[in-house]
This record gives sequence, structure tokens and C-alpha cells, in this order.
Amino acid sequence: MDGAGLPETRSTCPYCGVGCGVLLRPDGRGGLAVRGDPDHPANFGRLCSKGSALGETVGLEGRLLAPRVDGLETDWDSALQQVADRFSAVIAEHGPDAAAFYVSGQLLTEDYYVANKLMKGFIGSANIDTNSRLCMASTVAGHRRAFGTDTVPGTYEDLDDADLVVLVGSNMAWCHPVLYQRVLAARKARGTRIVVVDPRRTASCEAADLHLPLMPGSDVALFNRLLTAIQDAGAIDADFLRHVDGFDAAMAAARDESGAATGLLEADITHFCALWIGTAKVVTVFSQGVNQSSSGSDKVNAILNCHLAAGRIGTPGCGPFSVTGQPNAMGGREVGGLANMLACHLDIERADHRAAVQAFWAAPAMPQAPGLKAVEMFRAVAAGRIKALWIIHTNPAVSMPDADAVRGAIARCDFTVVSDITAATDTARLADVLLPATAWAEKDGTVTNSDRTISRQRAVLPAPGQARPDWQILAQVGQRMGWSDAFDYESPAEIFREHAALSGIAAKLGRDFDISALRDLGDVAYDALPPTRWPVSDNAAAAKGGRFFAQGGFFHDGGKARMLPLHHRPPAARTGPRYPFRLNTGRVRDQWHTMTRTGLSPRLSAHLAEPFLDLHPADAADLGIGRADLVRVTSRDGQAILRARITDSVARGQVFAPMHWTGETAPSARIDALVAAVTDPVSGQPESKAAVVALSRF
Ligand code: SF4
Repeated sequence: MDGAGLPETRSTCPYCGVGCGVLLRPDGRGGLAVRGDPDHPANFGRLCSKGSALGETVGLEGRLLAPRVDGLETDWDSALQQVADRFSAVIAEHGPDAAAFYVSGQLLTEDYYVANKLMKGFIGSANIDTNSRLCMASTVAGHRRAFGTDTVPGTYEDLDDADLVVLVGSNMAWCHPVLYQRVLAARKARGTRIVVVDPRRTASCEAADLHLPLMPGSDVALFNRLLTAIQDAGAIDADFLRHVDGFDAAMAAARDESGAATGLLEADITHFCALWIGTAKVVTVFSQGVNQSSSGSDKVNAILNCHLAAGRIGTPGCGPFSVTGQPNAMGGREVGGLANMLACHLDIERADHRAAVQAFWAAPAMPQAPGLKAVEMFRAVAAGRIKALWIIHTNPAVSMPDADAVRGAIARCDFTVVSDITAATDTARLADVLLPATAWAEKDGTVTNSDRTISRQRAVLPAPGQARPDWQILAQVGQRMGWSDAFDYESPAEIFREHAALSGIAAKLGRDFDISALRDLGDVAYDALPPTRWPVSDNAAAAKGGRFFAQGGFFHDGGKARMLPLHHRPPAARTGPRYPFRLNTGRVRDQWHTMTRTGLSPRLSAHLAEPFLDLHPADAADLGIGRADLVRVTSRDGQAILRARITDSVARGQVFAPMHWTGETAPSARIDALVAAVTDPVSGQPESKAAVVALSRF
């Protein structure tokens, strides 16, 4: 059958948090033609290399096509009953906190909602956390401390309207390429200047006016210097400060900082401060280089302090802007998919918020306190306190810090369920029960991108084998555990309506997330839902022009924002004679996470075909390491063997390695096996960019 005549269907790219719209045309033989959606407000038709290769990744190679129990294929009824019975037995014997879900920013919002409802409202534990903990938990913590909720104030249009874009810990050229193209377009159209704050000279530096290669982890020192410079230049917005508490304490702490910890030239710091202060329309973009740190929350708040003090927030072309790694990290935050949050940005610590959610769900149980965050969760698995674990669409045996220990913990867990599309990931190999889920282009639901725009993902390919949508799998387990009515969903549209209705209750309790105007969306209207930025309500006065906080209106009691007193803290692990190098980890342009999808595209794999280690020429010479030599990289936690790339894009004493390769694709290059499980004390986010290692020629 020739598919050329089939209509195109609108959907959303499943990779990064830009959330580009795509148009999909099945070829009738299982393949798919993909192009950018010219009408989607995130990308206006543009796609990056990963998005444009999506059609090459929909084959069934390596797919999990049937449920398996103890390695043997079985039917759905048997597998689901096994999951329900084992979870019920563990909860009955050991209590709800002996159960845990570890989920993913790859889930659609409707899947995420059901998972969170099952764990928090019905099992009665808050032990649901997500791989978004590894991505942007520090931003969530920073937003909540400053604004009172996890609100992203700005929009992508602010990048079009800015005269200065500061990229902090963000290699946007590779990790959010379509947004970077947007910044370059603004540069061409209006001369927008670009500053990159990053220890590495990344691809994002190629078009930058200024690169600040600060010492790893020293962002608080830099932004404290900026804060004092704002005051010294008379650029404090005294009028806006009526909406802000904590100014004096934050300024006093900033005055303690000399900026020396950054390792930057004083002239460069001064130049940066002058540029930032002298440019009214400035957007400070931050990403994993800020978040993945033992002081990640403080780094976020140091950036927010500057925007609050200067009143540069909530107006066109202005504001702090977090860009998320995953396609639905924001949707996960909205449904409360983190162990320390409730649905719809409600607070788990507040009794009135817990009571509202419990009443709405008619739930038999609600946790009274936050659950275990990702690193704590796998420690509890290792210690035997968690005895039933359900891992959904993520590969923690590779991607968690101290990955060897996590792999061992999962292997020893009494009962592990894995839902995935891939049959043989490092984690799937450890499962007692494997459940086949539908993949992108086979499933229906919504995702929320980095600027709060909700977009539909739509199914255009049939579910292969016995694969089912995640919301359905979770609901069917919930029903088998005895909660038939609560999980009697017919469609993702029905779940979306419930979520939207709950958001109306949250808004009445003073929360920002409000899509209550969509609570009566019919099935047809849900299917046709165009990209929609929240808030979407009759009472969305807090967001003017799609932006929050132009005139204050923060979500702390009293309606004020909070500036925090902050001091620079270096990374937790110190370099020394035994481990003299600082290891930075990150993404490459053409791969995504552990490569289960992008690894299927020969075109994408051609960009960088094998794992590598970037090291400085002088360090390579000292160690007798030549170009393309193999290098043994060791830390207290593990080791890897990587191909040397000798480059001055990294500073002396620093090395960089990609995070994508797994035990399946390159057994000696599981980079997170080297990263210690050290976390930010506020956000629980691991410090994935500042391990200490030793190098030797292999
Ligand atoms: Fe997909 Fe992100 Fe590329 Fe857009 S920028 S096409 S969302 S990977």
C-alpha cells in the first residue's frame, strides 16, 4: 500500500523539552514520514537532527511485544494479576512505604496522572519519583522557594524579544537546538547578544559574544557578583521590590562574595555585569549545568535573585527561563510526579492541600509527608526497605549516579516490574515482570513543554504485538488492587478532564497551574486540542500575555516573592592526588538518553559513533595519552574505558564524557557508574557534572 496519499497528523517530538510540533504521515508499511509543523508555536516548522530522523526510529527492532513473567511470555491477565497481587501482599505485610514507582519524563501527562494517583491516593505512599529528578528538580525547588510555586514565568517569545540571552549551564545548540535557532534568528533580526556561562567551550559558544568558562559549580559566586553590581549601578527596581521579601539579607550575603571562586578574569566578570545591567531585555536561560549540582537549588535562586532585584521578570523579552531536558518533564511536575509534590502544584506538606486532593479522588489514603527522592529510593531498595518496585520508561541501571550500585539494588529487590518499549535494556534484564508499552506515534495524550504549552501526541501507528498504553496498564493494576471505580478510565481524554477539574480546585487554593477551562473538553475537542499554554481558565489574571509576575502576584502567602541569602559552595567531591580530574557529563547533539530510540538511526549514530573522553592537550601530554588512545577513567565508585579526544574546549584538570552509552551498547562506557550519589540537600538532585576521577592510558 502506498501511503503517499494518507493525511498528515499533528503530534509532538518525543525528545527534548522544546516540544516541537511534527506532522506525521504513515507510509502504510509501518514507516513514517516526519516534518516540522509550520503552525506549532514552539518551532514553526523547524526540527533538529533528532526530530527529523524520527521516521527512522519507529521500527520494531528490539521491541518488547508481549508481557513476560520471570523471562517467559505470558498473557496480560496473568501479568497484571501478578503485579497487583505482589504489590498488595507487600503493602499488607510491610506497609505502603515498602512500595515505590520510579517513572519518567517520557510518560504522557495522562499516564503520569494515573501513576501518581495510584501511588499517592490509593497505595498511600509518596514513594513515586521520576528521572526528572536527575534533570530539573533543582529548578522546581528554586522556583518554589522564590515564587511560592513551580512557575516558569516566561515564554519562548521572550527569546525572540530579548536583547541579551545568557545561557547558564546550557549547551542549547546541541540540547535544545530549535530554541537555539530561535535565538540565532533574533540575533540576526535585532542583534541579540549571547553570553555563555559554562566551564566547557561548547557548540553554543560559536555564536556567543562572550564565553565565561567559570570553575565547575561556581555559579552562585558569579550571580552574587552580578547582584551587587546591579545595586552598585543603581539598577535595583525599587518599585518592583514592593513585591519581594528578603532583599537586604540576599544583598548582604552577596556582598560576602568576591567572585574569585569563579576563576574568571575580573575584566570578564565586569564586562558580563555591564552587559546584563545595561540591557533591559535580558533572558537568563538555565539548564542541567545549573541543576545537576549539590548546590543546584542555590544556583537557581542566585539567578532568580538578580531578576527579582532588577524587576526583570514577566515582561516581554525578560526573565529567568528554565529549559527542561525531557519532553514531558513539565507535565510530570504538573501532575505531582515528584515524591515531594502533590497533583496540580499543590504542596504535600500542607494539610489543606492534601485534604483537597484526597476529597477530589475519594482516596482511601494520602501520605502525610514527602516520599523518597530518586537517590534515596534506590538506597531504600538496596537496604531492603522497598520490596516492590515498578520502573516505567526509564533505565536507572544506567542513568542513576553510582549506577553499579543501583543495578545491584534492583537485582536484589524482592519484586521488580518494568514497563518499557524495549525488551533488553540494562534495567529490563533485571525485571521479574516485563510489561510491553506503546511507544511514541502509537499512543495518545498530552505533553507540556518548557514554556507551559500543552500539546497533543497522537497515535498514527498501530500498537505492535500486545503493547498497551501506560495509563491503561496502571489503571488495570489499580482496579485489580481493589479500586475499580477510581481507575475505571476509558480514554486519555477522560483522564485529562479529571486533571483539569482538579486544577480548578488547586487554583482556588492559590496555585498557579490552572487548566480548569478545559475540564469539560469533549473527546472530539480533546483530539483536536491545539497547542495551548497554561493557565487556561476563566480566572487567569496572574498571567498577562502568557507571562507570570509582571506586576508581582507571587504565590507565597502575602503574594510576595522571596530573595534568598546565598553563599557559594564548591562541588561536594574535591580533587586531590588520587583523583585529580573533574568529570563533567552531558549529552551529544544526535543522541537521546540511553539511545534506545536514536540508536536505531544510522544517520544519528554517524555523528559520534562511540563514547569518548575530552581532555586538555597539556593533561594528555602529562599522562602520555595520544589522540584516539583508550583511556581508563576511575573514580571511587566505578570505572570506564573511553576513547581520548584531545581538545582545549575543556580546561586543564577537567574532562567531559557523554552519558548515552549503556551496558548494551558499550559495556565499558557506563559513565554514571563513575558518578557519586551526592545530591543537593534541598532538591535531591544528583551532582552529575562534578565527579572526581583519575585517568591513565589503557
Ligand atoms: Fe525534538 Fe527537541 Fe529537536 Fe525539537 S529541538 S525536534 S523537540 S529534539
